[in-house]
Amino acid sequence: MRVGRPIPAPPQPLCDYCGGKAVLARVGDEAYPYQEDHGPVWICPPCQAWIGVRARSKHHTPLGRLADAALREKKSQLHDALEPLVAAKMRRDGVNAFEARGKAMKWLIASLGLPVDSPTIHALSLEQCEQAIHFIAEFQAARGRKPSDS
Ligand SMILES: [Zn+2]
Repeated sequence: MRVGRPIPAPPQPLCDYCGGKAVLARVGDEAYPYQEDHGPVWICPPCQAWIGVRARSKHHTPLGRLADAALREKKSQLHDALEPLVAAKMRRDGVNAFEARGKAMKWLIASLGLPVDSPTIHALSLEQCEQAIHFIAEFQAARGRKPSDS
């Protein structure tokens, strides 16, 4: 019997904090961090660090790096900081929130010159999130100082 194309190895995300192998957990599993179903997550139970997977991903490709409590908090702060820009972009370009958010992230990552493969919030480290939040604040302040903002 002939063997077809080799099947690509499924991803094995590592924990940034301890270097251990993350495990895939689903709702109801002992390691699963939520009560409700938020889709499968890759989790490092000892570090309580986790990340979700891409929607409809056959191999459960992780969305980014595993995030511990501090990074999750920082990502949520960055998300909040970004939302006014996203709303402005939706109004100006007439695009939906998903597209506007994608564009805003691309702009942000390019502006900061961050060495990340994919322009999503989940690719960022704690330091990079802090840098991004700071950058947005400065950007907003600079815009606010202009007499006419069109
Ligand atoms: Zn770990």
